[in-house]
Amino acid sequence: MVYREPILVLYSGSVQSACGMAGSAVGPFYCPADEKLYIDLSFYDDLQTQFKAPGDFAMAYVIAHEVGHHVQKLLGISDEMAKIRSRVSEEEYNKYSVRLELQADYLAGVWAHHAQGMGVLEKGDLEEALNAASAVGDDTIQQRARGYVVPESFTHGTSEQRKKWFYRGFEAGNLEEGDTFGAGNL
Ligand SMILES: [Zn+2]
Repeated sequence: MVYREPILVLYSGSVQSACGMAGSAVGPFYCPADEKLYIDLSFYDDLQTQFKAPGDFAMAYVIAHEVGHHVQKLLGISDEMAKIRSRVSEEEYNKYSVRLELQADYLAGVWAHHAQGMGVLEKGDLEEALNAASAVGDDTIQQRARGYVVPESFTHGTSEQRKKWFYRGFEAGNLEEGDTFGAGNL
């Protein structure tokens, strides 16, 4: 695989991507069609206030997760997902989506492993990332937004799962242990 670097697009308000028009409400996202990461500048504040996940490394985790989606695109996983999407029900697709998202968390962890190797992690950084991964879990978000959770509607995984896969990537530092699609237990 030849690695192509993705492009980071910072915007405020709304933005036009090859995946359509998006507003800041959607949160950071990666568009496989143009291989760009889109991050609304206000999200750093949202992480602190709305998600209670402050710190520079919380934001680093968010960006690394989106780059994880870029790696999935380069590996052909995003294309596979698009094919699956066209032939299964929404509820069934959600299960694949969770595995895709947890793998992006794993890849973010792999990046954090190497960031540590380069000596850029400060005391507390790992905890900031784990806290952020937990804060964006489907169960936590749904519980806060509506007071109950609907597991069938999960698309990103629970707080526990997101933390677990990020940490697994952090410990492994390689792609080998990141097969969330083959994992029996997420
Ligand atoms: Zn994602």
